[in-house]
Amino acid sequence: MNIRDENVLRELNLYPLWVRRDAPLPAEPAVGLKPDPQGAAGVCGLDLSPTQSGKLAQPVGLKPDLQGAAGVCGSDFSPTQSERLARHVGLKPDPQGAAGLVGQTSVRQVAGDWATLKQQVRDCTACALRAGCTQTVFGVGDEQADWLFVGEGPGADEDAQGEPFVGQAGKLLDAMLAAIKLKRGDNVYIANVVKCRPPANRTPAADEIATCLPYLQQQIALIKPKLIVALGKTAATALLGREATLGSLRGSLHAYNGIPLVVTYHPAYLLRSPAEKARAWQDLCLARTTLQQSTNGKE
Ligand code: URA
Repeated sequence: MNIRDENVLRELNLYPLWVRRDAPLPAEPAVGLKPDPQGAAGVCGLDLSPTQSGKLAQPVGLKPDLQGAAGVCGSDFSPTQSERLARHVGLKPDPQGAAGLVGQTSVRQVAGDWATLKQQVRDCTACALRAGCTQTVFGVGDEQADWLFVGEGPGADEDAQGEPFVGQAGKLLDAMLAAIKLKRGDNVYIANVVKCRPPANRTPAADEIATCLPYLQQQIALIKPKLIVALGKTAATALLGREATLGSLRGSLHAYNGIPLVVTYHPAYLLRSPAEKARAWQDLCLARTTLQQSTNGKE
């Protein structure tokens, strides 16, 4: 692991948390790092037996030698681990996928190519949010990306700059991307559920989400990502088309219109609750291994 990798993991509060597989177990795992025996860490190339998983969750002053967490996430995927993933996926399937359910709440149909869609968003006054924001924030990145990250809606920085996730939460998102060897704009697209900043950064209302969602749906139709990461509850429930807690949605694979979808914490929440970064790391590992599997490691 190089210095840059160490810095990324430090940013995620994950360094130096990981210990050697053969390191002795302390009596109790650290609070907030309890291993989830069916959790995503197991599909990141690590043995997930309770003992290993217990070791993985230990905090401590030992230098990790697992190639660093990023290395672990990118490591190979044995048949046993594939089976685990399959079982894992089978745990909480979303049989209907998102599209059908989402379609019930969407009020408008949006179609067209990128240029048309960008123009439609720029010109949109379909809900009250547009009157209160500086500009629409369409989305940013590789328009043919395998990876799509979806947030809730622009904040003050995004409203000022016209690009998603450019404030403090955006810095953390960039670190999260780096932890799984991704970079904004490089095989990654970042978008939000709503394209206009809600006043005082409040959560967008259901009718605002329903009005704006067709734009995101069309973005997804054009990008055709191989994997979607929903950042936070608003993105997850909008895309999955059903109300649920974030805790109940993360940790297993879902689907949006046949595209695998992983739910994780919103970076702004992680800034307030850094202890949850370890769980976010598990989610990113699930996302990474899911994509590796779907592309037979060619990703
Ligand atoms: N939070 C979001 O959900 N999206 C952004 O673009 C910025 C902060």
